[in-house]
Amino acid sequence: MNKYKCPKCGFIYDDEKENILFTDLDDNYFCPFCLTPKKEFTLEEEQPKKEVVEKRVQISPDNPSIARIEEKCINCGICKNICENVVGIKYKKEDVLQPICINCGQCVVNCPTGALVTKYNYKKVLNYLNDTDYIVTVSLAPAVRVALQEEFNQEAGANVTKKIVTALKNLGFDYVFDLTFGADLTIMEEATELVKRLKTKENLPMFTSCCPSWVKYMELYHDDLLNHLSTCKSPIGMQAAVINSYFILYKDIPKDKIINVMVAPCTAKKYEINRDEITDMDYVITTRELAMMLRECEIDFKSLEESEFDVLLGGGSGAGDIFGTSGGVMESALRCAYHIVTNEDAPVSFYDLESVRGNTAIKEAKIKMGNYDLKICAVFGMPNLEKVLKDMSKYDFIEVMNCPLGCVGGGGQPLGVISKMTDDRVKRSKGLYNIDSNKKIRVCYKNPDIINLYRAYLHYPGSPKAHKLLHTTFNHDLKLKYFCKK
Ligand code: SF4
Ligand code: SF4
Ligand code: SF4
Repeated sequence: MNKYKCPKCGFIYDDEKENILFTDLDDNYFCPFCLTPKKEFTLEEEQPKKEVVEKRVQISPDNPSIARIEEKCINCGICKNICENVVGIKYKKEDVLQPICINCGQCVVNCPTGALVTKYNYKKVLNYLNDTDYIVTVSLAPAVRVALQEEFNQEAGANVTKKIVTALKNLGFDYVFDLTFGADLTIMEEATELVKRLKTKENLPMFTSCCPSWVKYMELYHDDLLNHLSTCKSPIGMQAAVINSYFILYKDIPKDKIINVMVAPCTAKKYEINRDEITDMDYVITTRELAMMLRECEIDFKSLEESEFDVLLGGGSGAGDIFGTSGGVMESALRCAYHIVTNEDAPVSFYDLESVRGNTAIKEAKIKMGNYDLKICAVFGMPNLEKVLKDMSKYDFIEVMNCPLGCVGGGGQPLGVISKMTDDRVKRSKGLYNIDSNKKIRVCYKNPDIINLYRAYLHYPGSPKAHKLLHTTFNHDLKLKYFCKK
C-alpha cells in the first residue's frame, strides 16, 4: 500500500504484514526503520463515532497490548467479527462501562490493512541493555522457537532455539534463560495441586491457569467458577519470581539492579505482567518484536551460530516445550501427576497423548492413573469453552487456551498470508512435539535444575515457601470495572 510507504527508507506497510511501529520511552510512535515520528498516525480516541463503534472493536487508550492507527482502518468489521465469534467477547451486553478486551491480539493477526498494531516496548529494553548499571535477563517462551525464523523467510516449525539464544546474547542480554524451566516448575506445582484435589474431591474439575486471556475472561464472565482454576502462576510468573529470589541470592545481585524480560508469542502477557499479583517480570516482547530488535541492531539471524542457554535456570524438559501448543500443558501435567500418584514413570502412551493433540478445538480423553479414572479435556477459544462449561462436571481436568491451537497461534507470532495461518500453526505445533520427542528428559520431575531448586530453596512441591512464591489469586471484582451493577 503505497499510501503508507515510509518516505525516507521506503519500508512498505504491507497488507499481509503488521504495520510495525514502536514506542520510545514516552510511548510515542515511530517508523521502525528511519525513526520518523509517526505524527500523522493518531491512535483511537476514547469516543469514536457511534457507527464506527458498532462495527469494529473498541480499544481503550490504556490497553497495554494493542492499539489502532485510525488512518489505516477501512472500517471493515473483521476485527469485531473475530473478537466476537472466534475469541468470544460478548458485545450484546447493554451495561458495558468500557471496551472489553482480553488482550489476545487475534484482531491484530486478522486485520487486513495493518490498522491494528501490537504495542511495542522493546525500545525500553534496548535502553536497559545499553545501561551497564543493570543486569538484564531474558527468558524464551516455547512457541517462539518454532516461529521466529518465519520473520526471516524461513519455514514454520523448524527448531531455531539455539540460534535465538545466540541472537539474544548478541543483543546484550546478560543471562538467557529457557522459559521451559518455568513451565516445568508450573507443572511440578500444578500436578501436585491436581492430585490433592483428586484426593479431596474439592473444586473439580481443575482448570489450567497459564493463559492470561482465558483467566481474564473467567474473571469477567464466570467469576463464580474461579475456585476451579489452578492457583499456580503461569510459567512467566514463576520464572520471574525465582529469578528475583533464588537467582539473585545465588548471584548476589541487588533486586533493584535486575531487569527481567520475556520473549513471548503473546500480546496478553503484556497485560499479565501488569496484574497486581505478578510483580517480578518487567517487560514482555513478542516474537515479532524480537525480529524488529534484531533488524534494528543489524543482527543477521540466518547466519547466526548456535549456543546454549545459561545455567541455573537454563534447562527445561520436553514437557516444558509442549506448553506452547493446545493440549501440551495437559499432557505435561499428566506425565507428572502419574508419577505422583503411582511413584512410577508414566507408560509410553503418556509421552504421545494423541487424544489431546492436534487442531481440534475440543479434545477429550479418558486416562487411567493409578486408582483414578480421569476424564480430561483440552479446549481453545472461548466460544468452545462455553460449550465445555455446559457439562463441565463430567471432567476432572481441563486445559484452556485462548488462541487457535494454543500459543503457537498467539497474537504476537509472525504474521503471514491469512489463508496460510492455520498451516503455519500446525507446523509450529508439530515442531514443539518434535523437540519434546528428541529430548532425553521429558518429565519435569527429572529436570536436574528443578530438582536442585526444590532441594536448595523451595523444599518440596506445594510447600509453604513454594505457595508464597509460585501461587496466585484471582480478581473477583474485575467485572465491576467493566459492567454496571444490575
Ligand atoms: S479489521 Fe482493521 S481495518 Fe477492519 S475495522 Fe478492524 S481495525 Fe479497521
Ligand atoms: S485483543 Fe482480543 S479481546 Fe481484545 S479486541 Fe482484539 S480480539 Fe478482542
Ligand atoms: S493462548 Fe497463549 S498466546 Fe494466546 S493468549 Fe493465551 S497465553 Fe497468550
